[in-house]
Amino acid sequence: MTGEPVTGRRHVVVVGAGPAGLAAADAALAAGAQVTLIDTAERPGGQYHRMLPEAYGATDPGVLQHGYRSFDRRVRRVLGHPRCSWWAESSVWALERRDAPDTADVAHVPGSAGDGPPLVHVLSGTPRRRHVLEPDALVLAAGAHDRVLPFPGWDLPGVYTAGAAQALAKGERVAVGDRVAVAGTGPFLLPVATSLLEAGSRVLEVLEAGRPGALAGGWLRRPWELGSQLGKSGELLSYAAELGRHRVPYRLGRAVVEARGDGRVEEIVTARVRADWSVVPGSERVVAVDAVCVGHGFTPRLELPVAAGCALRPLSAESPAGSPSEVFVEVDGDQRTSRPGVYAAGEITGIAGAPASRAEGAVAGWIAAGGAPESRALATLRANRDRGRAFAARLAAAHPIGRNWPGWLRPDTVICRCEETTYAAVCRSAVDPTRTEPGVAKLATRAGLGPCQARICGPTVAELRRGGDTGAGPHHRPVAEPIRLGELARPPEPPPGSSEPSAHPDSPVEESTS
Ligand SMILES: Cc1cc2nc3c(=O)[nH]c(=O)nc-3n(C[C@H](O)[C@H](O)[C@H](O)COP(=O)(O)OP(=O)(O)OC[C@H]3O[C@@H](n4cnc5c(N)ncnc54)[C@H](O)[C@@H]3O)c2cc1C
Repeated sequence: MTGEPVTGRRHVVVVGAGPAGLAAADAALAAGAQVTLIDTAERPGGQYHRMLPEAYGATDPGVLQHGYRSFDRRVRRVLGHPRCSWWAESSVWALERRDAPDTADVAHVPGSAGDGPPLVHVLSGTPRRRHVLEPDALVLAAGAHDRVLPFPGWDLPGVYTAGAAQALAKGERVAVGDRVAVAGTGPFLLPVATSLLEAGSRVLEVLEAGRPGALAGGWLRRPWELGSQLGKSGELLSYAAELGRHRVPYRLGRAVVEARGDGRVEEIVTARVRADWSVVPGSERVVAVDAVCVGHGFTPRLELPVAAGCALRPLSAESPAGSPSEVFVEVDGDQRTSRPGVYAAGEITGIAGAPASRAEGAVAGWIAAGGAPESRALATLRANRDRGRAFAARLAAAHPIGRNWPGWLRPDTVICRCEETTYAAVCRSAVDPTRTEPGVAKLATRAGLGPCQARICGPTVAELRRGGDTGAGPHHRPVAEPIRLGELARPPEPPPGSSEPSAHPDSPVEESTS
């Protein structure tokens, strides 16, 4: 890790080294900025390019990756750049607005420090040390985590989020079970099932809760536009072919509505569901499994944008009404958020896949670094980004969450696993006139007060309370990553190291097409 920005250059801090953050760092370097790239993980790549740990000594790490070569080229270019400071295993635990209420009196002159991006509080190294960065521009590319709807028995050992199962399979070569079912909604179920097969599991079936009508309505609407999204469509077809080769059934309109077992999952109950995801009576079927992986889309990681004060927008106006908590960071055509000097890219602006994240990241990084907005290469990136957004709208329309999924729940079904808050407790608080305030309801039910700080249950509780906790509510976490009191008590240290300036090229870097 090297550190301090060189005076005279724009210092761009990029949070997240997934497809979006890496592309942002690459473009910001190309535009001549000093870049600090920060990620909690040991290696860059984010969720899409999840790599085996270095200790595994993989001889061909690309074999498990789509688009590995262009990713690897970009990693080498960015991390090896003399103006890039790569902070691995470092977490941004807080953003401090310079126009915060206690400094507002002196900070309201337009163009003053109060209009700049927030201070970036980072925990880094072993033992962890506190640093505070004061960037000229901040690119947020924190990605998403997978969303899981609760059902009776979902808290049994052996029930995995699809993302966790994939992380174990792809990132550790660990199979979560021998007889595994994959269920939920969205195209993400396909790569998860493929990763499980590669790790040695027998995948019994993939259950997509969406019905054929919704899928056709989303995916086949304006089919000629799919041609411009060939990269992502081709990737999905390759997963489907792999499942076909292993004779894994892909069933539409079916969901896992219960998991049962003595101490761990032994069987699941699957059922046909209607368009609103209510169960068709008599369609239940019991399947013996030793693991089940469930995913119902993604929740953007919004705590940093919320802390920075960025405006949020609801899920695409075109898509059917979704959860009240389905919100993303609002950005303009240059990936600017509503906060001066703060840019956003990737899944936090909409769930659109890795190619769109890369395009957004490149636009954000280039503009954040002060690159010319009219550059020709930027026009291509913007076009790629817009195609990605169209893909996101298609995805949202094809895989909406049916509003009647709470019909799967029983009064004693656990909603918040950290605090063991039940469905009955959440329902009681929703109708209690003294607990209409989300904060009061949270204290009363304790849902969201545990270690995950509502990352898992937050959107679900917001939805069950229907309108009681909308917008930024479930994402408001002033402390984005856990910090020990001892660490908090120690004063921050200056960023370590320094790096050399280099030439100032005049166009954004080429965008990978994979
Ligand atoms: C669990 C999971 C698995 C997925 N698997 C696939 C797949 O197999 N195929 C596919 O097409 N798409 C997959 N996706 C979707 C895929 O993640 C995106 O299309 C793409 O990776 C998004 O890129 P991104 O840069 O926006 O976010 P990400 O790739 O998620 O990268 C965000 C990065 O930000 C870092 N970060 C977040 N918060 C902080 C912080 N406070 N401090 C420091 N660093 C931080 C994270 O560690 C992460 O590396 C998956 C998504 C998830 C959530």
